[in-house]
Amino acid sequence: MTTTIEHYINGSIVPGNSGNSSAVFNPATGKESARVALASPEEVNTAVAAANAAFPAWSSTTPLNRARVMFKFKDLIEQNREKFQELITAEHGKVLSDAGGEVTRGLEVIEFACGIPHLLKGEHSRNVGGGVDSWSEMQPLGVVVGITPFNFPVMVPMWMFPVAVACGNTFVLKPSERDPSPGLLIAELFKQAGLPDGVFNVINGDKTAVDALLSHDDVKAVSFVGSTPVAEYIYAKASEHGKRVQALGGAKNHMLIMPDADLDQAVDALMGAAYGSAGERCMAISVAVCVGDEVADQLIEKLTPKVQNLKVAPGTEPEAEMGPLVTAQHLEKVTGYVALGIEEGASLIVDGRNHQVPGHEAGYFMGGCLFDNVSKDMGIYKDEIFGPVLCVVRVPSFDAGCELINDHEYGNGTTIFTRDGDSARQFTHSIQVGMVGVNVPIPVPMAFHSFGGWKRSLFGPLHVHGPDGVRFYTRMKTMTSRWPTGIRKGSDFSMPIMK
Ligand code: NAD
Repeated sequence: MTTTIEHYINGSIVPGNSGNSSAVFNPATGKESARVALASPEEVNTAVAAANAAFPAWSSTTPLNRARVMFKFKDLIEQNREKFQELITAEHGKVLSDAGGEVTRGLEVIEFACGIPHLLKGEHSRNVGGGVDSWSEMQPLGVVVGITPFNFPVMVPMWMFPVAVACGNTFVLKPSERDPSPGLLIAELFKQAGLPDGVFNVINGDKTAVDALLSHDDVKAVSFVGSTPVAEYIYAKASEHGKRVQALGGAKNHMLIMPDADLDQAVDALMGAAYGSAGERCMAISVAVCVGDEVADQLIEKLTPKVQNLKVAPGTEPEAEMGPLVTAQHLEKVTGYVALGIEEGASLIVDGRNHQVPGHEAGYFMGGCLFDNVSKDMGIYKDEIFGPVLCVVRVPSFDAGCELINDHEYGNGTTIFTRDGDSARQFTHSIQVGMVGVNVPIPVPMAFHSFGGWKRSLFGPLHVHGPDGVRFYTRMKTMTSRWPTGIRKGSDFSMPIMK
């Protein structure tokens, strides 16, 4: 019998009653592994009502006690690491070690949130005027929502809810319907850690559920991570309904390779950054920009055998370097882009289409693909492919490489490989991208810094986790007080100034 992945509302699993569900597949076998309930607007209302009812008590709980729940929760996530890895690999397809890395990066945000008493300390100014003191504090918003993509079913929700909940908000998570199981395990462990019912809820669903969340009067803020067209829609719709929004979108990340770079290091870095997680990462490097033909020729020569020999296998196999893509539709989209690249005149050096994994013929596998002579007018350069396809673009100079990167509509991450401090310094300072690396393939900021792109990779002013996460999930209140000894007699009708 097929199991159905339900909702988690007010501390319990709640079976979906909308009559709608969609299939969840194991990408390595191509078989349906479960159904996921798709919530109706009424079910969304129930989840928001539970979160709203839990807010007064949770926001009044001392930050220290909220931190104690986070510490216990962190321990429980660690104890259940393997369970999370198995769930991620079974529904997303990525290899187990990569799933473990995802859990670690999520845990780091929980560790950051454990320091919430310190993070919520406000500012105080004594004696701003005679007998007058002034201070500010950060207060939680109320019910906040997280809508997340398929590619990091544990890490991306953890970019959001640990900080939101530690700040005193209550949370409704709407995970991707492709890999919804980890969301329910998170909810169960949070309860075991001592989180009161209603503080963290999971509503499974599609656009119907999302739209109901975006327009709900009791939702105060929306965090979204996913593709750019949906991010743009979420930003516009939630803003129209008066919500605070941060909507992170798609990417096309470039690695600029200078003639003085250590090419072997660049090649090793590219293999992980372009083909790890089958390229389904928002910080994947999908474009290698080579300064000069000599660099490009050598890079292609070194990359080609490595891409041809990538170990493509189910993510559960220990030797696997790259698992399947997430769905049959996504596989079709990515292979369609490879066909487009050939049509557009790029040189396909390694063709990973039609890659068969014996015993897993129905799985959504493909091998790595490598294109040379890609130019900026091509669709394979302009669009986010989100698969194991690396494009090499040749440019004559550092300036031409920077111009190319700056002209791209996305600005999530980028990196430069060089031994020259001047080029690196100029690159980090002037490039129009939100997260920048120097000889680092995937410059994902640690949890105590904030993560976010520029241009059409992020809609809204604040990044996720780190200091921006605390700013996003709180609002500032500033108090000014005077004690009776400081009060002079008589009224003053002019603008108050401190003397
Ligand atoms: P997606 O945009 O299809 O879906 C994301 C979420 O939005 C899901 O929960 C989905 O149910 C919901 N959704 C989808 N269509 C919707 C619609 N029309 N209206 C309302 N809600 C809708 O993204 P995906 O395919 O799950 O994830 C891959 C994308 O996410 C890639 O573009 C990737 O770059 C991006 N991503 C970005 C970051 C980042 O930090 N910028 C991180 C991870 C993933």
